[in-house]
Amino acid sequence: MRIRKASALAAAVLALSLTATACGSEDGDENGDGGSSGDGGGESLSIGIKYDQPGLGQQTPDGGYEGFDVDVATYIANELGVSEDNIEWVEAPSPDREAMLQRGDVDFIVASYSISDERKQQVDFAGPYFLAHQDLLVRADEGDITEEDVNDMTLCSVTGSTSAQNVQDSIAPDANLQNFSTYSECLPALQNGTIDALTTDDSILAGYAAQDQYQGQFKLAGLNLSDEHYGVGVPKGETQLRDDINAALEKMVSDGSWDTAVEENFGPANYENEPAPEITETD
Ligand code: GLU
Repeated sequence: MRIRKASALAAAVLALSLTATACGSEDGDENGDGGSSGDGGGESLSIGIKYDQPGLGQQTPDGGYEGFDVDVATYIANELGVSEDNIEWVEAPSPDREAMLQRGDVDFIVASYSISDERKQQVDFAGPYFLAHQDLLVRADEGDITEEDVNDMTLCSVTGSTSAQNVQDSIAPDANLQNFSTYSECLPALQNGTIDALTTDDSILAGYAAQDQYQGQFKLAGLNLSDEHYGVGVPKGETQLRDDINAALEKMVSDGSWDTAVEENFGPANYENEPAPEITETD
């Protein structure tokens, strides 16, 4: 069984019964039992992460998962009494995150997921556990870029991200913005000159710039275009789970595991991270 609390389960069952005809049963977790893992005991968790963001959440060639978000998620799971072996990793692309939590596809999401008022109407967050800033990834031979230049650029970002939203709302409403479903899809377009820049969080961009296959080809513009506070997304109303995750995050920082995870995952990309932020997502 998963570690959902009875009240949350009851709410999930009710929600499911109301929407059952629309949902169908996609992953065997739609039957309201909270997702029995069938592993012969021990609790399991289903956690949403990114699969294509080196340094944060990446699927490795051998089918494993690595990155800061993976380490944070694993630490939280352990604190909740679930060992790494009993975690089911699920890809949580930016446009799908709210719906995945609302449908109950996953227990929680740790996927460079910025806390925002708009998202908080649909889901709850624990955290934040990290602070990043929006920036541009450009070709290495590009000259200096200022914020004023961005309106004249062809940009690539991802549907449903705060990065795309920020461009349209405030950073560069006149820019030619092309949205894909993942950031990694923008990289070939940046390489071949179809776009001028990929824009999202500097934490993500640093990971791409440091990838072996792109070594020396890209650089960050160094613009601090927004504050992105990463939260752990939980289904709306799962207050106990949120509080338990907050306690795990506090512990991860205080026992030094947070620093170790930052060093291991962002060190190779020479990413200069902000200190661990204060937890704000409480009642
Ligand atoms: N942190 C931003 C967001 O949550 C951009 C990164 C992402 O899409 O995962 O939208």
